[in-house]
Amino acid sequence: MGSLEKSGMKPEVKEEKVDAAAMSLEDKLFLVKTKKDSISHIKLNKDMCDDCDDRVCLFVCPSGTYEEIDGEVEAAYENCLECGSCRVACASGAITWKNPRGGFGVTYVNG
Ligand code: SF4
Ligand code: SF4
Repeated sequence: MGSLEKSGMKPEVKEEKVDAAAMSLEDKLFLVKTKKDSISHIKLNKDMCDDCDDRVCLFVCPSGTYEEIDGEVEAAYENCLECGSCRVACASGAITWKNPRGGFGVTYVNG
């Protein structure tokens, strides 16, 4: 038993309420603990992407990893939350996705 518990005193824990609905995606991503790798764990087959009409990757990713820049799809892999949705959604299989290297990527509190 710690000395504070023995004395009957408990440390005061302040909880701040967060209005998640009012937060921007960038603000939410800032709260996710990640260790960014210098090497991308996402590779795109650009030829397939060029021929892709629906570009569903732009809409399914919860972190907005995929962007269209000057007509080309790019993956800002640093934002990836490792949910796996894009691999399922891309019907042409243009996405090669690996887990980030050991020690890198997202750290989830509950596993
Ligand atoms: S990753 Fe898949 S869904 Fe996204 S543009 Fe390329 S081919 Fe289309
Ligand atoms: S794994 Fe999830 S978070 Fe990462 S790029 Fe794909 S859809 Fe986005």
